Parts: sequence; C-alpha cells; structure tokens
Amino acid sequence: MKFKQIFQRLFGSNKQKPVSPQNGTQADKSEKMQKMLMMLSNTKDVELTCDEVFALLDQFVELAAQGEDVAQLMPLVKHHLDMCEDCRDEYKVLESIVQNVA
Ligand SMILES: [Zn+2]
Repeated sequence: MKFKQIFQRLFGSNKQKPVSPQNGTQADKSEKMQKMLMMLSNTKDVELTCDEVFALLDQFVELAAQGEDVAQLMPLVKHHLDMCEDCRDEYKVLESIVQNVA
C-alpha cells in the first residue's frame, strides 16, 4: 500500500515510539495480537495502548478518508484519539498526508 511507504519515508526509523524493555518483549506480542483481534471484532472493554493505536492508525485514517464511519468500525481507536493528545497529533499528520495523496 503506497500510503505506508509514504509514511515510512516521512517518518523513517527515528520517529518510532519509545518502547520500554519490559513492554517490547516477544512474550507479550501474542497478548497484543489478541487485544487487537478483540478490538477488530468490536469488543468494548479493551483499552488500547498508544503503540496499538499507532499500529492501527494508518488503517483508521484510510477508512476515514474513504468516508467510512470509523467511530463505528474502530471505536477503540477513536476513543483513544479522543483521550490521547499524542496519538491525536499523529492522526492529524496522517490525515493531512492522506488528503494530499488522495
Ligand atoms: Zn495514545
């Protein structure tokens, strides 16, 4: 997907979110994946971390750009964006990129 390439070119590797050693281990990867699957199946009682939101953000922005109801499709991402200024900033950057590309 060309959007991802654009994003990676713009932000490169120096724009990665800091991952604490305890958080970034392989061990909790499957747990994260499960959380993500739950989120994608629209389960409510799950709070996403910034990393998880960040991983889904490009998808979220693309859906929004296509006129999809992202609040309905990805409610937890939307919820996190409402709460978290950092991720909201990322979202705005991505949004402006998508709009320029589209
Ligand atoms: Zn966040």
